[in-house]
Amino acid sequence: MLEVLHRIVQEVNAAPDLGEALRLIVQRVRLAIKTDVCSVYLTDFDRREHVLLATEGLRQEAVGKVRLPMHRGLVGLVCERAEPVNLDDATGHPRYLFIHSTGETEYRGFLGVPIIQNRKVLGVLVVRQVESRKFGDDEVTFLFTLAAQLAGAITHARASGELTQLQPTRSPLNRYLSGQPSAPGVATGSAVVAYQLADLDAVPDRTTSNAPAEVAAFREAVALTRQELQLLKVRLSTELPVEEQALFDALLLMLESDTLVSQTVERIEQGQWAQSALRSTIETHARVFDNMDDIYLRERASDIRDLGRRVLTHLQMDKPREITYPKKTILVGDDISAVQLAEVPAERLAGIVSAKGSSSSHVAILARAMGVPAVMGVTDLPVGRLEGLDIIIDGYRGRVYVSPDPSVSDEYSRLAREDSEISRELEAMKGLKAETTDGVVLPLHLNTGLISDVMTVGLEESEGVGLHRTELLYIVRDRFPGEEVQFESYQQLLAAFAPRPVILRTLDIGGDKPLPYFPFAESNPFLGWRGVRISLDHPEIFMTQIRAMMRANIGLNNLRIMLPMISKVSEVDELQMLIRRAHDELLEEGRGVVMPPIGVMIEVPAAVYQIGEIARRVDFLSVGTNDLTQYLLAVDRNNPRVAAIFDDMHPAVLQALVQIVEGAALYRRPVSVCGELAGNPLAAVLLLGMGVDSISMSAGSLLKIRWVIRSYSRARAKSLLQAALRMTDARQVRELMEKSLDEMGLGGLIRPGK
Ligand code: PEP
Ligand code: MG
Repeated sequence: MLEVLHRIVQEVNAAPDLGEALRLIVQRVRLAIKTDVCSVYLTDFDRREHVLLATEGLRQEAVGKVRLPMHRGLVGLVCERAEPVNLDDATGHPRYLFIHSTGETEYRGFLGVPIIQNRKVLGVLVVRQVESRKFGDDEVTFLFTLAAQLAGAITHARASGELTQLQPTRSPLNRYLSGQPSAPGVATGSAVVAYQLADLDAVPDRTTSNAPAEVAAFREAVALTRQELQLLKVRLSTELPVEEQALFDALLLMLESDTLVSQTVERIEQGQWAQSALRSTIETHARVFDNMDDIYLRERASDIRDLGRRVLTHLQMDKPREITYPKKTILVGDDISAVQLAEVPAERLAGIVSAKGSSSSHVAILARAMGVPAVMGVTDLPVGRLEGLDIIIDGYRGRVYVSPDPSVSDEYSRLAREDSEISRELEAMKGLKAETTDGVVLPLHLNTGLISDVMTVGLEESEGVGLHRTELLYIVRDRFPGEEVQFESYQQLLAAFAPRPVILRTLDIGGDKPLPYFPFAESNPFLGWRGVRISLDHPEIFMTQIRAMMRANIGLNNLRIMLPMISKVSEVDELQMLIRRAHDELLEEGRGVVMPPIGVMIEVPAAVYQIGEIARRVDFLSVGTNDLTQYLLAVDRNNPRVAAIFDDMHPAVLQALVQIVEGAALYRRPVSVCGELAGNPLAAVLLLGMGVDSISMSAGSLLKIRWVIRSYSRARAKSLLQAALRMTDARQVRELMEKSLDEMGLGGLIRPGK
């Protein structure tokens, strides 16, 4: 049975369209289960009916015509229960429905299993037998497996319009493919499928007897790839802020890194041919990043593999095809890389859709910097069938419409008009203060540390850096960065913002963000060796960082130091002692350092309950709502399966925040919020109501949040907070705030994904 199942799954996967996939399934299943009839029904939610889509055993003319009322018959029962119904004699069941048009005789044996995708029943797969027959467990699971396969094919077909004839009344606005909203905005254009690079996985293991020739070919391929990247970098230089161009430098650095080239050459010299030597090196490097929980870091594995494919393409002497890009190009592909994006002339690039990747992918970062809407991780994207088709992408909600109806196009033209109005409003916010209508100023700070953060707007429009994540400096190297390297990096940042304050956070590396050169495995990394726990166990690493920070501050005097992941009061005491020691040592060395203000992040529930004791010891507090939410709600912040439960507007999180603000007030310590919550327009009003002293966010949120703060009075924010605190779940809080922002004329800012 298993073998038959594998074969059917393969055939279904290879089927050119849904119709063929369905025909195959009903034929093969009838044979495999040795039964009289196999049929597939699809649920038409608009007409509240189940439509017969394919059958083997009933009349073929009935296909597409027979429609069963949604809540009648046994098919309806399977759909309602979302569970299999297995009856040895269906004719005696109260829900049994006899239908003439299918050419039915009385079938007794009945087994129906639901076809489910993302909790939703899409249809029912049915087998029937003239005689009484109770189907066995393995037959039920056999159908289950095929139904799961079918669910994917149906979702594809729905999105690509293949099902339109069968569902004429279905609203076109409901027919789209879903992915991750990765760069905001709406775009319309024609699909161009990105050129597929050579496939590293397909490279066979081979040996060579002419290593020097293979080495030469490999070096030549690396050189050609380098030229190609440099060319693209130059081409994009007018489109991107300097910081974003650093992406290409990073790729070039990776390409030229000693390890990548020398390890491949070494493998060739040991007898492998260049192609498999390259594959092995790339895989070894990519795997280090594959195992990281942090989405941003995991994305680096794609960069490395993309580089590998580029070099391989040159090794195989394959020439990328010449593409004529239409005026409004929507670049689609299985796994679009930053480099593929750069190949499209910027003035023709309207949008990006990728089956793989996420909003942390380089390509998504670039798209945001260029203001090009993007949807990543569209798992059901039928890439091969999209070339030349009209596409609309909704980068706010992560939707992709293929060959959209005119009504969809009209709706999106309206959204695009609204968008340009909002952009004008945001532009008008530049240079203003985040001041409420009753005169309260809420300083807006910038989060930095990821490549994408320091955009010009961030530098010009923020009142300092509220959180600088120092991890990147450690991650992009092959060993711990020394004091000098760190000193230079921190000094650059402090100087760029001086005299505005800059909060440098000490290393928050841990089980979820392991360093390639400092590996350790844990079964529960988020509850493991992380943040200051590592700093305390390795004071030498911590002291090096503190020394670099203090030296960078000489002559600038705008440094603040912040400690992450504090869960015990004694950790604060011990770390402060180390900081004082570093300070004294530097003074003894004759360096003119000063003791900067020291603060801690409140992101572990234990710290919330000991807020007074902690506040008393430090100069400032900053709430990391990302971790605080994951620990309060017991939801892994990086696990897509529970992403819907991760909600930082949960009333429990709001209560914790209130408790923090009240605890800090007892000792008159300022409180900031630097998690994602601070950049959310709905939540910023509540934070204002709580009386936090500042908030810190990524550059893209600054002007939006300024607009929100300037629209409210502190008094109104307070009363909204009181209402929110009385609510029982996050959905109600969101609804309350959405309604309020809508009333204030800020509805455009809260479109999903904004
Ligand atoms: C947080 O946890 O909210 C935070 C700002 O820190 P990070 O996201 O770096 O863990
Ligand atoms: Mg954190």
